[in-house]
Amino acid sequence: MTSAARIDLHTHSTASDGTDSPAELVTAAHAAGVDVLAITDHDTTAGWDEAAAALPDGLRLLRGAEFSCVSPTGRGDRDVSVHLLGYLFDPEHEAIVAEQSRLRTERRHRLHRIAEKMAADGYPVDPDGLLALLPAGTSAGRPHLARALVTAGVVDTVNEAFATLLYNGSPYYVPKADTPVETAIRMLRAAGGVPVFAHPFARRRGRVVEPSVIVDLAAVGLVGVEVDHPDHSPEDRDLLRGLAGDLGLLTTGSSDYHGTNKTTPLAAERTTEDVLEALLAQATGAPLL
Ligand code: AMP
Ligand code: ZN
Ligand code: FE
Ligand code: FE
Repeated sequence: MTSAARIDLHTHSTASDGTDSPAELVTAAHAAGVDVLAITDHDTTAGWDEAAAALPDGLRLLRGAEFSCVSPTGRGDRDVSVHLLGYLFDPEHEAIVAEQSRLRTERRHRLHRIAEKMAADGYPVDPDGLLALLPAGTSAGRPHLARALVTAGVVDTVNEAFATLLYNGSPYYVPKADTPVETAIRMLRAAGGVPVFAHPFARRRGRVVEPSVIVDLAAVGLVGVEVDHPDHSPEDRDLLRGLAGDLGLLTTGSSDYHGTNKTTPLAAERTTEDVLEALLAQATGAPLL
């Protein structure tokens, strides 16, 4: 590793809602000068083997996933959807295999229902055709429907599809049954993995948790918080960094790259080497490649 290693700990491939195959993802990361990359598809490890097999010399790979979770807000209102990054867990851990499988099924049914609602309103989307395009094991997500809407000429971009039709709380929105975040943290730790709260203050997407929730999750076994993320304001980054310092949590940075489904390039935000070392020191479920 060079003294200014470029470390990006949150990226998506076609195993979920990114547009680069796992092999293309590691190739693109190497070309972008990334030294350490984490592959973190939603609710699946299906991209791990292909990414590992295609790993270019000079690029290290952390295998991980982004877990769809639900959390109290800390305000006493209804629970909110949150994302938990899990790194280097045992991919054969029984509870994780079962929960990821359940969530992928849930995701397919839910995307089908969203597409049905839109079709009923006259939008040119075919729920069965949409899902038939997604190989088994792929995590279906709203970006897949967003792309179908772009292809059908309904909107010009994936972002416009989210802004006008697919946003949280839209008439077409259908929730999915996510994992209680405390359960996910315990499950990841039991599988030798390292849990990091993904973009905790991504307010653009809707309601977010109060800092008190992060205090509670630290007590349950949370190891870090993603601070430098494209959806975080400078003020929220400062707030999170302060909180992490008080709680002894690691602070990561990452692009949340989704290929052409988003505009953020690889390594747009990065993690420092000392944080990576501390993270690796806690992982026992799968080695860094
Ligand atoms: P889902 O997993 O089906 O709930 O869809 C959420 C995913 O859509 C997240 O992974 C986001 O990265 C992605 N997403 C959310 N908002 C947007 C947006 N405005 N443009 C592109 N992708 C988005
Ligand atoms: Zn995504
Ligand atoms: Fe996320
Ligand atoms: Fe993500």
